[in-house]
Amino acid sequence: AIPLVVAVSTALAAQHGLLIRDRSAFERARQLQAVVFDKTGTLTEGRFGVTDVVVLGGYAEDEVVRLAAALESQSEHPIAAGIVAYAKAKDIGFEPPKEFKAIPGKGAQALVNGRNVKVVSPGYLEEHGLDVSDERIAALASQGKTVVYLLIDEKPAGAVALADIIRAESREALARLKGMGVQVMMLTGDSAAVARWVAQEMGLDDYFAEVLPGQKAEKIKAVQARGLRVAMVGDGVNDAPALVEADVGIAIGAGTDVAIESADIVLVRSDPRDVAAILELSRATYRKMI
Ligand code: ADP
Ligand code: MG
Repeated sequence: AIPLVVAVSTALAAQHGLLIRDRSAFERARQLQAVVFDKTGTLTEGRFGVTDVVVLGGYAEDEVVRLAAALESQSEHPIAAGIVAYAKAKDIGFEPPKEFKAIPGKGAQALVNGRNVKVVSPGYLEEHGLDVSDERIAALASQGKTVVYLLIDEKPAGAVALADIIRAESREALARLKGMGVQVMMLTGDSAAVARWVAQEMGLDDYFAEVLPGQKAEKIKAVQARGLRVAMVGDGVNDAPALVEADVGIAIGAGTDVAIESADIVLVRSDPRDVAAILELSRATYRKMI
């Protein structure tokens, strides 16, 4: 039989919008020593707005926006949505691209008007030995903005800076977790500059930047290797292996089906404060039993 305290707490959990898929994970939650959050869409709202466009190599700003938006019109990434919305707001028309392909964790590419167009991360540029040292761009990155680069026929033609917003709920979640003596960390595919900015802004204990989709689970193992019992909180397909690897995998309810199926607990309300509630409820429940 299910002990009464556990039954009551499960009802309480449901009231908090927690869908507990694995009861033993809920029990383990009281012993967690670290929580790793995915950045985009979890700690932040995941809605990017374009703040700046920097042109390189003599291209006109409208042309940079037009080609980037044409390519991104086929992408499902939140950065893509921001670039397309910006082009529309500026009344910059664009046509559908051909041969669109995502470059996982790094960007996307396609043919636009017969030109090979890519929008990529700073990490991609480094990997391909493309040096774009530009003071304006460095300044944008140090302000915590996500910078992506437009390449036309493999040559840098511009950079687009976008801003996402740290959710107010994330700050409260962090304070409650820290209050319980739990370390709070972040995992992101975004650049080191952006990760550093968010980590400082929020007062995170640690972060991992430029993590490729296939490396997220390894980072969870690295935290476990420090002797910490760790929860992972994420929403994307990319997060699924890390959710499985973690001692407790927590998916955001508004996330992908793959993430939800890989998680032990699902946050129905998609509110990071409910992560703190999991630990609080687990501690309260199992304290009463022993
Ligand atoms: P995260 O979920 O942390 O944002 P992703 O793996 O989705 O990580 O993306 C990592 C990085 O790859 C982004 O910060 C961006 O630089 C680049 N990127 C991925 N997809 C796109 C895209 N469609 N357009 C522009 N940049 C992209
Ligand atoms: Mg993500």
